[in-house]
Amino acid sequence: MNATTNLAPHADLAAVVHHWIDGRTVEGQGPRAPVYDPSHGREARQVSLATLAEVEVAIQSAAAAFPAWARTPALRRARVMFRFKDLLDRHAKDIARVISAEHGKTLSDAEGEVTRGIEVVEFACGAPHLLKGEFSDSVGTGIDSYSLRQPLGVVAGITPFNFPAMVPMWMFPVALVAGNTFVLKPSERDPSTSLYLARLLKEAGLPDGVFNVVQGDKVAVDALLHSPQVAAVSFVGSTPIARYIHNEGTARGKRVQALGGAKNHAIVMPDADLGAATEAIVGAAYGSAGERCMAISVAVAVGETTADALISRLKERVPKLKIGASDAAGADMGPLVTKAHKEKVQGYIDAGVAEGAELVLDGRGHQVAGYEQGFFLGATLFDRVRPDMKIYREEIFGPVLCVVRVPDFASAVRLINSHEFANGTAVFTRSGEVARSFVQEIEVGMVGVNVPLPVPMAFHSFGGWRNSLFGDHHAYGQEGVRFYTRLKTVTQRWPEPDANVRAEFVMPTMK
Ligand code: NAD
Repeated sequence: MNATTNLAPHADLAAVVHHWIDGRTVEGQGPRAPVYDPSHGREARQVSLATLAEVEVAIQSAAAAFPAWARTPALRRARVMFRFKDLLDRHAKDIARVISAEHGKTLSDAEGEVTRGIEVVEFACGAPHLLKGEFSDSVGTGIDSYSLRQPLGVVAGITPFNFPAMVPMWMFPVALVAGNTFVLKPSERDPSTSLYLARLLKEAGLPDGVFNVVQGDKVAVDALLHSPQVAAVSFVGSTPIARYIHNEGTARGKRVQALGGAKNHAIVMPDADLGAATEAIVGAAYGSAGERCMAISVAVAVGETTADALISRLKERVPKLKIGASDAAGADMGPLVTKAHKEKVQGYIDAGVAEGAELVLDGRGHQVAGYEQGFFLGATLFDRVRPDMKIYREEIFGPVLCVVRVPDFASAVRLINSHEFANGTAVFTRSGEVARSFVQEIEVGMVGVNVPLPVPMAFHSFGGWRNSLFGDHHAYGQEGVRFYTRLKTVTQRWPEPDANVRAEFVMPTMK
């Protein structure tokens, strides 16, 4: 542990994961749910599920902290983020260990997640610049006009299991530097990372109550949605819940951004560098055991020759993936997050077989020596998947890659544009003309050209189209600043002492 860290963030993972309210751990009085060690397949600890009353306490703490935090100059708020970034850098490996232990992703993948979160913190450090308004001198005689962006108040973040550090950090760094106070409701499946972040924020100098964490399930989520004191909700998770959050939140007058599920396609053109495309697709399909909202789950091969060549390369490459415990050196992918999720993914593989897709590689029954109870599933590959099949239509969120064969580029674009989800997509080609057409014609939020996981950097913004996002704002970047602030425009006149101001009854104009 670092010498300057007097809060001992995680000498080890706690037996029961509680809440963080008003700058300290608060023991939950509600029911408890199990948190698993996915590599060993056993319960590792428990998480306290917040009651309505506990969520209310967190909201009140955030509401009480809001006026002083909103008045704090943006530069001072940014300085907290600078210190937070420094602490994150120093604790990155340890945070990755906590993520990996509960999620099951490999340590190196977890470190990558922390880095992508830190990048948003770095972006948020620019708060004084990001929040600068606009000024127009002399919009009328003796009249100037300016606009400023002000915080919303108490805002809530509800996050999924698959990025317990990065997704909360898509939200709260920007929300906090903009002057809001925050209540985070992380996934109950890997809750410990949220408390680690809360402790580091406190150590960075964030005033108590500005950032709070309530552990929990639907009860906690509904309490946040129903509270009139919560001004805005950022959600990331599956599409049915995203739609629910958006409907419930906006019906109560809240600002809502709700990012949902995905089915990301990669087109492989006949002229693509097939070796490079195969490597890119294998990493993007099976990394983090496919539990990424930007994972490539469909490869669209253009032409039978391309399809045959791609399948033959995948058949050779995929079985070489190293599947191991989340902390195993050199593992390419770890277990799935829970037994229930593993069984759900297995059910999709059964359905694909029943629907007549060609099962080229079957990950069912995969065992890792020494971890026989772990929630492991091997890398699975289907060929000749048709658009009417369940394994094509629905998000599987596991290590399952479907290959769809199409005759030409136009069919590939039509296929992608017809899917319910539109989060990310990519094309593999050497043709500038094809790449440009793809970028122009594809109706998807995040697009890669020979880049399999086009996750935007922190100074751009993250978000999909269609059923992958409900609401008007993408996450982080300038979109995040807009989401967490509201615009005020001031028109001001300072009359000369002897100015002869008279009532005007017509609409003021510059005529
Ligand atoms: P999930 O929808 O099950 O859970 C997300 C959050 O919602 C959790 O905090 C959970 O406690 C809460 N929740 C669950 N059921 C609820 C209910 N009935 N009412 C109210 N709240 C509820 O998602 P997950 O399984 O944790 O995460 C995986 C999903 O998240 C995938 O669909 C994935 O595509 C999606 N995801 C999307 C993005 C994106 O940016 N679009 C990023 C990461 C993950």
